[in-house]
Amino acid sequence: MEQVVIIGGGPAGYTAALYAARADLAPVVLTGSTVGGQLSLTSEIENFPGFPEGLGGMELMDHMRQQAERFGAVIKYEEVTAVDFETGAHRIGTDRGEYAAKAVVIATGSSPRLLGVPGEDAFFGRGVSTCATCDGAFYRDRKVVVVGGGDSAMEEGLFLTRFAPRVWIVHRRHELRASRIMQERALAHPAIEFLWGSVVDEVMGEDTTGVTGVRVREIETEQTRVLDAEGLFIAIGHTPNTALFADKLDLDGQGYILTDRRQRTSVPGVFAGGDVQDHVYRQAVTAAGTGCAAAMEAEKYIAESGG
Ligand code: NAP
Repeated sequence: MEQVVIIGGGPAGYTAALYAARADLAPVVLTGSTVGGQLSLTSEIENFPGFPEGLGGMELMDHMRQQAERFGAVIKYEEVTAVDFETGAHRIGTDRGEYAAKAVVIATGSSPRLLGVPGEDAFFGRGVSTCATCDGAFYRDRKVVVVGGGDSAMEEGLFLTRFAPRVWIVHRRHELRASRIMQERALAHPAIEFLWGSVVDEVMGEDTTGVTGVRVREIETEQTRVLDAEGLFIAIGHTPNTALFADKLDLDGQGYILTDRRQRTSVPGVFAGGDVQDHVYRQAVTAAGTGCAAAMEAEKYIAESGG
């Protein structure tokens, strides 16, 4: 029987591991296949406090893993395949075995939705991004395309105007889903041009330089044009990684785990932190913060339930 099992190896999971390890709980971290979480897909992190020069996404995750291991966290690169929170001890099945734990911290994150068009995969991280906050600063004096019509797309588009001289927002309908205030700001911005009723068909680029253009098609007329953009930001929503927990924990309407202000889920002894329970901030630093809180609450839960 483990004291704490942490599901997920991104900033929330590793920070939970660091705190649980320092509380002498010898946590086991089950990372799953995307070791490092979404950060491992980001080239350069410039907004994680404490690193004034910035650092690579994978590098930051390596630091976090090493720091957790230094205090006794055990990292297992196993994929969780089933959970059972109904019986006394919480049971977690993986592709290699089974664990029982007094407390569980879920930090499985969310995955950005992608378009599924040619070039998207090939240029991911080299012009194609799902995070303007992370990558926007690389597009100073370079034109960019944002896809989506929700708050994220407006926010990303507006943020990108700090750097890019031209931001095209490509939206599949003629009406935005974003809140009125975000719409108004984006519509009024002189550097933003909307391409309505349009979809991205292809991301074009060179192996050496990355993205060089984005082919866009107007749905009604079937007319296509190539925008001379060097960046494509996909902001068509995220999907929380909660398939395993659908009938085990209370989720909100979008599938995110519902937690209270102490990171508690609907099941005693099961806590959640990071993007799997946050669709608003989605930052490495906020994920680390809620991961820390989840571990501290897990420690308290174990002590209060008899250690
Ligand atoms: P969202 O509201 O679900 O919007 C996703 C957008 O992407 C929609 O406009 C949708 O088009 C479009 N889309 C979805 N799949 C697509 C596809 N395959 N191809 C092209 N377009 C596609 O997601 P979000 O903008 O990430 O926002 C998620 C939640 O976070 C919302 O509740 C939002 O209010 C909140 N949020 C708030 C703020 C803020 O207040 N500052 C910032 C970010 C997010 P349709 O409109 O046609 O469906």
